[in-house]
Amino acid sequence: MSDYADPPALFRPVAAFECQECGLLQRQQELASGFRAVCSRCGHTLYREPEDGLRRALALNISALILFAAANTFPFMTFRLEGREQQSTLISGALEFLDQGFLPLGILVLALAVILPALKLSLTSFLLVSVLSGRTGTGLAKTFRFVETLHSWAMTEVFLLGVLVAYVKLIDLADIALGASMFALVGAIIVMVSADRALEPKQMWDKFNGGQENGLLPPRLDADYVSCHSCSLLGELDTSSAQAPCPRCGAALHARKPNSLSRTWALLLSAFILYIPANVYPIMTVVSFGQGAPDTIISGVVHLAGAGMWPLALLVFFASVMVPMAKLIGLSFLLVTVQLDFKWRPRERTVLYRMVEAVGRWSMIDVFMIAILVALVKLGSVASIEPGLAATSFAAVVVITMIAAETFDPRLIWDAAAGGRKDKAKND
Ligand SMILES: [Zn+2]
Ligand SMILES: [Zn+2]
Repeated sequence: MSDYADPPALFRPVAAFECQECGLLQRQQELASGFRAVCSRCGHTLYREPEDGLRRALALNISALILFAAANTFPFMTFRLEGREQQSTLISGALEFLDQGFLPLGILVLALAVILPALKLSLTSFLLVSVLSGRTGTGLAKTFRFVETLHSWAMTEVFLLGVLVAYVKLIDLADIALGASMFALVGAIIVMVSADRALEPKQMWDKFNGGQENGLLPPRLDADYVSCHSCSLLGELDTSSAQAPCPRCGAALHARKPNSLSRTWALLLSAFILYIPANVYPIMTVVSFGQGAPDTIISGVVHLAGAGMWPLALLVFFASVMVPMAKLIGLSFLLVTVQLDFKWRPRERTVLYRMVEAVGRWSMIDVFMIAILVALVKLGSVASIEPGLAATSFAAVVVITMIAAETFDPRLIWDAAAGGRKDKAKND
């Protein structure tokens, strides 16, 4: 039945669950349909039991895939000014960046708005069909591990908010018509959200039985267990031998994310440095009837507010100024408190981490908005919008802080509070 190449001699799975946010070991419980298990120490959701989850997830993923394909087929916005017209599809913005020599930015927007969402939907559908038809294997488990990493990077809903901001910005300047693709995109996002809710990773992982053929060992209180960062399989790791991969998903096994503090610091420092050009240089230039001045992030917000578009000014201010700042300061604060072995309020600091991790991707609104504007508004001297240098550095800040939030291991907060950090022995 199972085709796992390495028998799990070095890793013996046990019937318990480690909270990935605070490291507390908890007994695995069978849940009734519709219920979820919550960590008794930090409040994090450990796993859920959605009713008929996998089947529903399959139906929803396929519907989302069809809607997303439709959204990419037709034009989604038409810009009309002075008898001239410019149509735009979902990928026009990325192509326009590439055309104007903004290579990294073009590739990034193309990946986040189109390629990764499409990849996530199609791979998830493929995996669900395979698993529901009884196939399991290392290849499928590894593919699911990859799909799980795509969650924060498939940014269709953030892109939609960028579209909305661009639309409101242009509506006074010209005649804007929404195309069929816009409605398909909204539909796709609604279905994608339900698809994500229907698919509980644990229900999927339970279909792959890495090393669990002979049943799980009962957990012992005194044992030093290691849980897989990717699939949460918990077990006793024979640390005397070489690093063993997780028998279920193939990920490298560590008690804590390796070199979490130094990696996160390195990423944060790069983000701090890039944050300076992101705010000093212009992010875009709007030329209207031969007149126009470059806008920085802040002056863009000020112009929006000056034009009376308060809700939009607040949205852009929140996404482009507050969120990156809060992430840089929040993560630095977490790193310092862990390094100094603070025992102060671990639960609140875990909540802070969860917020930093969740809001990060929304900062891409501004980058997507610029992509849409440069693709739509290119009528030469009548009206045109060009990206500025800051757009690239700002996008880099967003991406780097997202990676920094992923390299930080929140369980270190609780290790430090308990007086023994588990990363110290081997990694620091
Ligand atoms: Zn917890
Ligand atoms: Zn694993």
